[in-house]
Amino acid sequence: MGGTKILSGVVDREGNVLAQNLVESPGTSEQDVLGALDACVEALLDERIGAVGLGIPANLDRGTGHVLRATNLPLDDFDLAAHARARFGLPVAVENDANAAALAEWKLGAGKGLSSLVMLTLGTGVGGGIVLDDRLYRGWAEIGHMVVQLGGPPCQGNCHGRGHLEALVSGTAADRIAAELWGPDADSHTLVERARAGVEEALGALDEMAEYLGAAIGSLANLFDPELVIVGGGFGEAVADFVLEPAQEAARRQALAPAYRTLRVVSASLGEGAGLVGAGLVGFEALDGAW
Ligand SMILES: [Zn+2]
Repeated sequence: MGGTKILSGVVDREGNVLAQNLVESPGTSEQDVLGALDACVEALLDERIGAVGLGIPANLDRGTGHVLRATNLPLDDFDLAAHARARFGLPVAVENDANAAALAEWKLGAGKGLSSLVMLTLGTGVGGGIVLDDRLYRGWAEIGHMVVQLGGPPCQGNCHGRGHLEALVSGTAADRIAAELWGPDADSHTLVERARAGVEEALGALDEMAEYLGAAIGSLANLFDPELVIVGGGFGEAVADFVLEPAQEAARRQALAPAYRTLRVVSASLGEGAGLVGAGLVGFEALDGAW
C-alpha cells in the first residue's frame, strides 16, 4: 500500500511476480481504504495462494500487525492482521512498507549478500528500512521524519513536525515546489519533465532536494555505518538520475571516516516493485510460522 495507490501481486519464494493488480487508493476514510485493499487482494486470490503479506505505510505494533498510526492514510489504531486473517482465511503477516522493501532489496536486490544497509523509499512520503548485522530491524525506521532543516516547512498528514526529510524530499514536497515555481497546475511530474528538458529552476530544485537527502544519508551513515544506502520508491526512481550522485557527494561531506570515501548510494534494483516483493516475502514468513 502506498499513500495514493494499492498494488497487489502473486509472488513466489524466489521473488518472481507472477501477476499483479494496481488500484488507486480512495484515501478518504478507513472503511474506503480497507474496502479497496480487500478488493485489490481478492482480485488475485486463487488456490495457489498460501498466505498474504501486507506492506503498509504506517507505524505498527511490532510483531502483531496492529496499525498504530499512518501518516498518509486514514488508518489509526486498527488490527489489520486480524482483519485480513478473518477476511481471507489465510496466514497473514503485516510489515511497514519500507521495511518490506528493504527486506526485498537485501534478500533479492541491490543489497544481496551484504550484512548492513539502509533503504529509503521516496514516494508520497518517505519510508525507511534498516538491515544491521544480517537482520532486518523490525521496529520503526521512520527516516522520513528525521529533521533535516530546523524550522523548515511543516510535515504532512498526521505528522506535526517541521523540516522533516519527507517535507523536503518526496513526491508531495515536489508537488509543493512545482506549484511555487509554476503555479497550481504544476506538480511533481512537471518538475521531473522540466528537469529532463534542462529547465534551470527544475534542476535547481532537484539539486536542493539532493542536498537535503544527502544530509539525511550522511547522518544515517554516522549512526549505522551501512555498507550501502539504497533509494527506491516511485518518486525516488523518477529523480534518481538527478539526485543520487549529488546526494552521495553531500552525504560523504557529512560522513565520518572511512565512510566519507566509501559510502555508496544506489537505486533500488527491484524498482518500484521492491515493496510488493517484500510484502510477498513476509507472507512466506507467515506461511512458515516464522512471523
Ligand atoms: Zn514528519
